[in-house]
Amino acid sequence: PYRLGPKISDWDEQRSKSIQSRPTKLLMVTGSQPNPCDNPTGDNFLLRSLKNKMDYARLHEIEVFYNTATMDDQLTGFWAKLPLLRRLMLARPEIEWLWWLDSDAVVTDIAFQIPLAKYAGHNLVLHGWASEVYVTGSWLGLNTGSFLIRNCQWSLDLLDAWAPMGPKGTVRIKAGEILSQNLRNRPVFEADDQSALVFLLRNNQQMWGERVFLENSYYLHGYWVALVDRYEEIMEKNQPGPGDERWPFVTHFVGCKPCGKDPAYPEEKCRVGMERALNFGDNQVLARYGLRHKHLGTTETINLDSS
Ligand code: UDP
Ligand code: MN
Repeated sequence: PYRLGPKISDWDEQRSKSIQSRPTKLLMVTGSQPNPCDNPTGDNFLLRSLKNKMDYARLHEIEVFYNTATMDDQLTGFWAKLPLLRRLMLARPEIEWLWWLDSDAVVTDIAFQIPLAKYAGHNLVLHGWASEVYVTGSWLGLNTGSFLIRNCQWSLDLLDAWAPMGPKGTVRIKAGEILSQNLRNRPVFEADDQSALVFLLRNNQQMWGERVFLENSYYLHGYWVALVDRYEEIMEKNQPGPGDERWPFVTHFVGCKPCGKDPAYPEEKCRVGMERALNFGDNQVLARYGLRHKHLGTTETINLDSS
């Protein structure tokens, strides 16, 4: 099968030599295509979406890595995160956790703290439901737009097992057919990393399941359609911090393709939703400086001291 690189089998040992007694380190990893967006408003969205991630990361003292390089000419598009995560693990052995966050995901609870201690016995944490992944086999049973992966041998092995459906062209197209035949309600399209992971876990639950944590007590990923119209109500009733229905941690614009073509939703609906999510998140940052957006649909701000 397709390989991400030379086989490594003693990564835990190699790493332990590099680790001093430091606190658990988390690296936020995100990225986008190297070229300008097809959609004219896409680059502005990417810029503001990165600003949002940097705001969260700064306030929580998390380092950010933004990638625009093609690290593997076969694993392009949504598959690009796999070779990237692998290279970062190997180059940064002192880092314990990597948090992959899609470019179209917005941090909407700036106060929420990821409960890393909870995942002590696990190596991969995704938003999802065990019944949907292992029983139903739904391609939407987990989401790979925002997930935590531990820097360890297990994760290198998982990436190797995850990658073979990724190479662009015939392999990815054929694999897409297999995924659509085997996963519930999956439309016919080329193999995507999310479906491939559901397929891998479902068929090899014994091997991988034990170290995978499917999180649904807060929105490590939150489906934007269900969230973007609720922000005013949320601000009225709740306080930032919980990361769940009360104040969703991440709002992810699945299917919107802010940078590219052919969104699965009306472009206007996506654009309005993204504007609202960015301003909703930004309000929590601006509050520290005495400012707030006039309303969630505008970049204009008002001064809280003089209002
Ligand atoms: N991506 C990347 N390099 C690329 C293309 C995509 O790093 O050349 C990242 C980007 O962060 C994007 C993610 O891969 O958000 C997932 O791809 P996409 O948004 O197309 O998938 P979706 O989230 O819509 O399922
Ligand atoms: Mn996405």
